[in-house]
Amino acid sequence: MEKSIGPNPGHAASYYAASARDKRIRPKLDGEHTADVCVIGAGFTGISAALQLAENGYSVIVLEADRIGFGASGRNGGQIVNGYSRDLETIAKRYGQEKADRLGEMSLEGGRIIRERVAKYGIECDLVDGGFFAAFTDKQVKEMAEVRAHWKRHGHDGLEMVSKAEVSKYAKTDRYVGGMIDRHGGHIHPLDLVLGEAAAAESLGAKIFENSKVMHLDTGPQPFVCTEGGIVKAKHMLVCGNAYMAGIAPKVTEKMMPVSSQVMATEVLDAKLIEELLPANYCVEDANYVLDYYRRTADNRLLYGGGIGYGGQDPADLTGVIRPNMLKTFPQLKDVKIDFAWSGNFALTLTRIPHMGKLSDTVYFSHGDSGHGVTTTHLLGKILGEAVHGQMSRFDVWSSLQAYPFPGGRMFRVPLTALGAWYYGLRDKLGV
Ligand SMILES: Cc1cc2nc3c(=O)[nH]c(=O)nc-3n(C[C@H](O)[C@H](O)[C@H](O)COP(=O)(O)OP(=O)(O)OC[C@H]3O[C@@H](n4cnc5c(N)ncnc54)[C@H](O)[C@@H]3O)c2cc1C
Repeated sequence: MEKSIGPNPGHAASYYAASARDKRIRPKLDGEHTADVCVIGAGFTGISAALQLAENGYSVIVLEADRIGFGASGRNGGQIVNGYSRDLETIAKRYGQEKADRLGEMSLEGGRIIRERVAKYGIECDLVDGGFFAAFTDKQVKEMAEVRAHWKRHGHDGLEMVSKAEVSKYAKTDRYVGGMIDRHGGHIHPLDLVLGEAAAAESLGAKIFENSKVMHLDTGPQPFVCTEGGIVKAKHMLVCGNAYMAGIAPKVTEKMMPVSSQVMATEVLDAKLIEELLPANYCVEDANYVLDYYRRTADNRLLYGGGIGYGGQDPADLTGVIRPNMLKTFPQLKDVKIDFAWSGNFALTLTRIPHMGKLSDTVYFSHGDSGHGVTTTHLLGKILGEAVHGQMSRFDVWSSLQAYPFPGGRMFRVPLTALGAWYYGLRDKLGV
């Protein structure tokens, strides 16, 4: 499908929405419908589950409050980061070695699912291989080397340390003292990916309704959901609303906090300039607690993200927050125009581990990928599909990982978490 910059109503005003290849608007739910499975939320989690189920012959209805990819899935940095938002050693300490080993076995699968689907369904989403984790301090380099050693024990052979002299192969800046590359990492146009996967599910019979917000969820033996204009009755419901969901499943949402992150995209840069800044065309994320992430787009813009808003609040001036960070990394861009600035919310859990489980025997959920969800949502969506199919073994591992409410309750959870982040941010600034 042709790629062009243009309006795409119902989405955040992002580079992705403007440049999405598929801008078709799906119908709104109207009247009563039945299906084997109804999925709430058309982000990576919901669409990954829907596609997995449609491939296995299930009739599937997906209900999306806004547009496909409206949430984090259509707004993120597009970075394919393998693993989880916590390293496996931390997971082993909290949940035991056996569960850490099971998670280790699955840790590269999300990236594989993406690449398999892109190839199988011919999804055009600007997929590029390779990611670079950048270190500001020797301490961060040492921590990366430890992480690499742990992952190697779990079969992750794509990680290689990068010396200070080699940094400029990946990012032409003097901010970093070294880092690590992941050959199995990479980057994509995330909205094109989720739209391509949605179209693949539709080609197998799934029905997707946009502008169809679920207002009520019944979790009984014959579950159903209601939107403003219709009802869906199904044998199973999958709740995949993540940080944008409110009201219909408090047992799920009370275990996460919406957190916003801000992203911007420059004007189209001269091809020689962007190649000089990011010669290997790998995506980059730094090792700070509140991290910067950036990459090149297919049309030669620099897409730069960072910043954090606990509770999902946005700063009034998004560019004013991100641009100074971009200029610290690439001062040579001081005269470059910013064409797009937007933000999105991801769901943070207290443990930083995704939260999967059941609300009843017929209603399952998954959310809380905590900032690194491009790969895990693909894995966990697939596992939701397996669970509906009666294959419970991987679902049981994930749903046994306990999730906790944030300390401080509704009133104080945001300031307490922000205080913790401020402390870790200060340590990064001081390099300790
Ligand atoms: C700015 C930003 C940058 C990020 N960068 C990266 C990155 O580079 N790499 C990475 O790995 N991860 C990144 N992440 C995280 C990643 O994007 C998310 O973890 C992932 O997309 C979550 O997918 P999801 O399907 O669970 O949720 P979402 O994509 O948020 O989808 C949930 C959907 O449910 C819908 N919904 C909610 N309530 C209802 C309802 N009642 N009825 C119907 N529909 C409903 C919403 O409208 C939404 O479309 C980033 C996140 C953000 C916000």
